[in-house]
Amino acid sequence: MTELPRDVPRLRSIERYLLVQLAAVQRALQEAENSITTKPDSSPPRWGIAWKRAPVGQTRVGILHRADCWMAPRELLDARAVFEARRQEGRRIEPCDSCKPHLP
Ligand SMILES: [Zn+2]
Repeated sequence: MTELPRDVPRLRSIERYLLVQLAAVQRALQEAENSITTKPDSSPPRWGIAWKRAPVGQTRVGILHRADCWMAPRELLDARAVFEARRQEGRRIEPCDSCKPHLP
Protein backbone atom coordinates (compact mmCIF):
# COMPACT_ATOMS: atom_id res chain seq x y z
CA MET A 1 0.00 0.00 0.00
CA THR A 2 1.89 3.02 -1.26
CA GLU A 3 -0.80 5.59 -2.04
CA LEU A 4 -2.86 6.61 0.99
CA PRO A 5 -5.41 9.41 1.10
CA ARG A 6 -4.58 12.35 3.33
CA ASP A 7 -8.01 12.99 4.78
CA VAL A 8 -9.11 11.51 8.12
CA PRO A 9 -12.47 9.97 7.05
CA ARG A 10 -10.95 7.89 4.26
CA LEU A 11 -7.95 6.91 6.40
CA ARG A 12 -10.42 5.77 9.09
CA SER A 13 -12.31 3.72 6.50
CA ILE A 14 -9.12 2.01 5.37
CA GLU A 15 -8.11 1.43 8.99
CA ARG A 16 -11.50 -0.14 9.77
CA TYR A 17 -11.29 -2.34 6.65
CA LEU A 18 -7.78 -3.54 7.55
CA LEU A 19 -8.77 -4.26 11.17
CA VAL A 20 -11.71 -6.36 9.98
CA GLN A 21 -9.40 -8.20 7.58
CA LEU A 22 -6.79 -8.70 10.31
CA ALA A 23 -9.41 -10.12 12.68
CA ALA A 24 -10.59 -12.54 9.98
CA VAL A 25 -7.03 -13.69 9.28
CA GLN A 26 -6.34 -14.16 13.00
CA ARG A 27 -9.54 -16.20 13.40
CA ALA A 28 -8.62 -18.41 10.44
CA LEU A 29 -5.09 -18.79 11.77
CA GLN A 30 -6.36 -19.80 15.19
CA GLU A 31 -8.73 -22.37 13.67
CA ALA A 32 -5.94 -23.79 11.53
CA GLU A 33 -3.56 -24.04 14.49
CA ASN A 34 -6.24 -25.69 16.66
CA SER A 35 -7.03 -28.25 13.99
CA ILE A 36 -3.33 -29.16 13.79
CA THR A 37 -2.88 -29.62 17.52
CA THR A 38 -6.21 -31.12 18.57
CA LYS A 39 -7.27 -33.24 15.62
CA PRO A 40 -7.20 -36.82 16.85
CA ASP A 41 -5.44 -39.37 14.67
CA SER A 42 -8.29 -41.54 13.42
CA SER A 43 -6.10 -44.34 12.09
CA PRO A 44 -5.38 -47.10 14.59
CA PRO A 45 -1.77 -47.63 15.60
CA ARG A 46 0.18 -50.08 13.50
CA TRP A 47 3.39 -51.97 13.84
CA GLY A 48 5.76 -53.99 11.74
CA ILE A 49 7.84 -57.01 12.72
CA ALA A 50 11.21 -57.52 11.10
CA TRP A 51 12.08 -61.18 11.60
CA LYS A 52 15.70 -62.19 11.99
CA ARG A 53 16.92 -65.36 10.36
CA ALA A 54 17.29 -68.29 12.70
CA PRO A 55 18.35 -71.90 12.16
CA VAL A 56 15.52 -74.40 12.18
CA GLY A 57 14.60 -75.36 15.71
CA GLN A 58 15.91 -72.18 17.29
CA THR A 59 13.82 -69.32 18.61
CA ARG A 60 13.10 -66.83 15.87
CA VAL A 61 13.48 -63.25 17.02
CA GLY A 62 11.40 -60.44 15.56
CA ILE A 63 12.03 -56.77 16.11
CA LEU A 64 8.84 -54.80 16.60
CA HIS A 65 8.74 -51.37 14.99
CA ARG A 66 6.22 -48.59 14.99
CA ALA A 67 4.73 -48.03 11.54
CA ASP A 68 6.62 -44.74 11.17
CA CYS A 69 10.00 -46.25 12.01
CA TRP A 70 12.49 -46.15 9.16
CA MET A 71 13.33 -49.80 9.81
CA ALA A 72 9.73 -51.03 9.80
CA PRO A 73 8.96 -53.62 7.13
CA ARG A 74 6.37 -52.87 4.46
CA GLU A 75 3.78 -55.21 5.88
CA LEU A 76 2.09 -53.52 8.83
CA LEU A 77 0.06 -55.28 11.50
CA ASP A 78 -2.71 -54.25 13.82
CA ALA A 79 -2.59 -54.86 17.56
CA ARG A 80 -4.34 -58.22 17.30
CA ALA A 81 -1.88 -59.55 14.71
CA VAL A 82 1.08 -58.46 16.83
CA PHE A 83 -0.49 -60.07 19.86
CA GLU A 84 -0.96 -63.33 17.94
CA ALA A 85 2.64 -63.22 16.69
CA ARG A 86 3.89 -62.80 20.25
CA ARG A 87 1.99 -65.89 21.39
CA GLN A 88 3.45 -68.22 18.75
CA GLU A 89 5.77 -70.96 19.96
CA GLY A 90 9.40 -70.61 18.99
CA ARG A 91 9.21 -66.89 18.46
CA ARG A 92 10.25 -63.93 20.52
CA ILE A 93 9.51 -60.31 19.80
CA GLU A 94 11.67 -57.49 21.07
CA PRO A 95 10.97 -53.76 20.77
CA CYS A 96 13.11 -51.72 18.41
CA ASP A 97 15.76 -49.62 20.15
CA SER A 98 15.22 -46.80 17.71
CA CYS A 99 11.45 -46.23 17.68
CA LYS A 100 10.72 -47.81 21.08
CA PRO A 101 7.23 -49.13 20.33
CA HIS A 102 4.80 -50.03 23.08
CA LEU A 103 4.07 -53.71 22.82
CA PRO A 104 0.36 -54.26 22.20
ZN1 LIG B 1 11.88 -49.24 14.95
